Amino acid sequence: MNSLFIEFRDPLFGIIIFFSLIFVIALISYWWRRFKSKEDSHYLNSFLNVFNSMPTEQELKTLMTSEAISDKSALIMAQTYHQNGDYEKCIEIYLIMLEMQKDPNEKKETLYLLGKTYFKAGFLERSQEIFLQILKQFPRTPKALRYLLIIYEKMHQFDKALEVLEPLDELGIDNKKDRIYLQAVSIIRSAQYGVDEKAQLLLALYQEHHLLSYLIFEYLFRFTPDLAWKNLDLGESERILDILWNAREAEANLDIISSNSYLRELFSAKGTELLTQESSIFEFDVLIKLNMADQSGATLQFDYLCSECKQIYPFSFHRCPNCHSIDSVVTEALLTKDHFEANNSLQ
Ligand SMILES: [Zn+2]
Repeated sequence: MNSLFIEFRDPLFGIIIFFSLIFVIALISYWWRRFKSKEDSHYLNSFLNVFNSMPTEQELKTLMTSEAISDKSALIMAQTYHQNGDYEKCIEIYLIMLEMQKDPNEKKETLYLLGKTYFKAGFLERSQEIFLQILKQFPRTPKALRYLLIIYEKMHQFDKALEVLEPLDELGIDNKKDRIYLQAVSIIRSAQYGVDEKAQLLLALYQEHHLLSYLIFEYLFRFTPDLAWKNLDLGESERILDILWNAREAEANLDIISSNSYLRELFSAKGTELLTQESSIFEFDVLIKLNMADQSGATLQFDYLCSECKQIYPFSFHRCPNCHSIDSVVTEALLTKDHFEANNSLQ
């Protein structure tokens, strides 16, 4: 019977104890890891839930009035919502901040951010009210004046926009481009003038200031091509490349085109008339060579760069949608497949 028991002095007993201990430790460690992993997953889920469900207005209010969150953190939170395009939440935060703020200068900054957000979200009238509210108390606030000017322009209230230029002038800010631009846009939008009168007025504006070549020649080439060709500022040809490229061929003035090397290359590339056999501009040169070989299938497409903020758009603009600069558009040509030709060849 005794032989069935191992004496505790027996070396085998020590080995059994050793392996038993290892087994117990491994078992505890396994259960601990399972427990921790469950706990971590629970914590992670509840953490993610905070982001999945946006806080309600009441939750935001409670959070911000509890002093658990500083003004700086609230601003960061608002900017995050702004960057994600959630203007509604961003506006809620600014409104709660305004309720809590007492210092007029702090209020002014928050009002400015609120006005900008309303503007970005497309609520022009609300944005206008906010900027007017700032200017009532702080009339010398150029950034609020500038936004007000753009809002009036977007609402086609050009007289009011021109009025805003006066206080900006008094602040010593150069508004020449804005003034001429507003004049030009109000001529184009006017119900008082006919097409020819508008064209003459725009041309006179261009000849006086040599600004807004893109805007003015875009109108002239569209409605009065003869006048456009006769008064074309050759120095601006490159800038209005897309307008010239898309000008109706039947109305093209070959005398003027032949007199200028850039125009000769451009219209040879377009295939209107082979006036040169090469060009230093890669895109033109390729198209000229294709035309000479009687090959089609390629054409130009255009991108539009803002020379101020360097943003690129697939459409042209007169006031940059991003930085609001005027007359900053730069036309860039790209060689592309001619879908019109390709489609025709399939028919
Ligand atoms: Zn820009």
